[in-house]
Amino acid sequence: EMEAARNAASSENLRSPICCILGHVDTGKTKLLDKIRQTNVQEGEAGGITQQIGATYFPVDALQKKTAVVNQDGAFEFKVPGLLVIDTPGHESFTNLRSRGSSLCNIAILVVDIMHGLEPQTLESMRLLRDRKTPFIVALNKIDRLYGWKPIANNGFRESLSLQNKGVQNEFRDRLEKTKVAFAEQSFNAELFYENKSMAKYVSLVPTSAHTGEGIPDMLKLLVTLTQERMTRQLMYLSEVECTVLEVKVIEGLGTTIDVVLSNGILNEGDTIVLCGTDGAITTQIRALLTPAEMKELRVKSVYVHNKTVKAALGVKITANGLDNAIAGSRLLVAKNKDDEDEIEELEEDVMGDLENLMSRISKS
Ligand code: GDP
Repeated sequence: EMEAARNAASSENLRSPICCILGHVDTGKTKLLDKIRQTNVQEGEAGGITQQIGATYFPVDALQKKTAVVNQDGAFEFKVPGLLVIDTPGHESFTNLRSRGSSLCNIAILVVDIMHGLEPQTLESMRLLRDRKTPFIVALNKIDRLYGWKPIANNGFRESLSLQNKGVQNEFRDRLEKTKVAFAEQSFNAELFYENKSMAKYVSLVPTSAHTGEGIPDMLKLLVTLTQERMTRQLMYLSEVECTVLEVKVIEGLGTTIDVVLSNGILNEGDTIVLCGTDGAITTQIRALLTPAEMKELRVKSVYVHNKTVKAALGVKITANGLDNAIAGSRLLVAKNKDDEDEIEELEEDVMGDLENLMSRISKS
């Protein structure tokens, strides 16, 4: 009964999609993240963006503010409660965020340097995205480096382009066409985002600059559009726990902790959890669910806030006994009844089924 109530589709139990950033080194993944996190204090544009463990959460208010310049008539409707963006860009967190072949990263941004085109790690990222069937958009970054580009900070791309001189516009078109050809060679059809008539058939290319902020409102709006078009409504509701270990870390005073991404469901202090360890399955109780304290709470002694319960999607640090041999990339399962030995045994077998796969990845890296 409780389960049914929990699963009932209502706006209170919508969950946020998870977004990963991939791409070749130096294309601007980190800078883009910094730029979207940046809040404009003067304009009161904070909107509740929160730093989490290994991720940044953008509530729908913040997304609305950050996309306002390209949604002036307010016609675009936001149905997601927010967006969780994983802070460590690159392959590793993307591959760790998986569960039995499917991906817990719901959508991705593939960053390409518009001056360089597709590079080796871009192709690798494309293969990963294709294998996992993860919908993605492409940020064609560093448009400010087009010769003669005149920036207008944080503007929508379309307007910024229309204000450039003919030479800049021609160079842009030229590089855009080359990029489209390079994507076609990888069997991806790609289109400039506002010329794309079908997000199911074509990958959207969104020109951006992590330096000037141009195109970033378009990028965020496109991410939400993609989620709303490609993620089924069902996927957006809270249901069974889906949780993955992103990192295993020793923290002074806390011992060995795990940083996890809770992609779906709810975790509570005291829950019995089961995960994959190098020395056999680990079954333990959650001692604490920690999220970073806000900067303004200066009187708080700890850098962490304790949570009785947390709700997907979010990044959270878990402290518990016996985590020393936990493996990054492991799934985290929750026992319904901690005293049911049969259930625990089943969960332990289940998580240990991933061991071979996880170990082969560790030895490769
Ligand atoms: P990452 O390796 O993909 O995370 O790339 P970074 O974010 O570290 O950026 C690599 C370099 O490119 C840095 O020197 C950045 O300042 C620069 N960079 C990133 N984005 C832009 C951009 O939009 N325009 C320009 N001109 N430089 C950028």
